[in-house]
Amino acid sequence: MTTYDPNNIFAKILRGELPCEKVYEDEHTFAFMDIMPRADGHVLVIPKNPSRNLLDADPQDLERAIATVQKLARAVKAGMNADGITLQQFNESAGGQVVFHLHFHILPRWEGVSLRPHTGAMAAKEDLQRHAQAIRAALK
Ligand code: 5GP
Repeated sequence: MTTYDPNNIFAKILRGELPCEKVYEDEHTFAFMDIMPRADGHVLVIPKNPSRNLLDADPQDLERAIATVQKLARAVKAGMNADGITLQQFNESAGGQVVFHLHFHILPRWEGVSLRPHTGAMAAKEDLQRHAQAIRAALK
């Protein structure tokens, strides 16, 4: 299937049908903590308008999303005291995509520290809350 599925997990989060640890929201974009972070402070940025990924997205939604990615990347770097940021974005299963609502991964990086492997392990809620709090504070 290559059409947008309105019942994907991120669409449900946007509609408030599933919980998330939100860090930022504006009229067109939304940012929240990845539940299985590959680094402490791993944030996801999504456009509110529906698209599966980069390939079918409206260019205006991409513009708005990347502006929010920059805003959050700065806040993640400052709030998590990171040395750098890795940005990831996957398209279709063959490209590594698992959730089919366009999203950007913002990963804080520290010198000499590798990303954690994908283990499927969920982070403790308190840790996500603490990291989200640090990132929200850096947004102000
Ligand atoms: P991708 O589709 O780019 O491969 O990755 C999807 C990302 O969404 C993964 O990093 C995964 O940990 C995250 N994820 C999957 N389900 C949920 C969820 O229910 N809540 C949150 N906050 N993140 C999720």
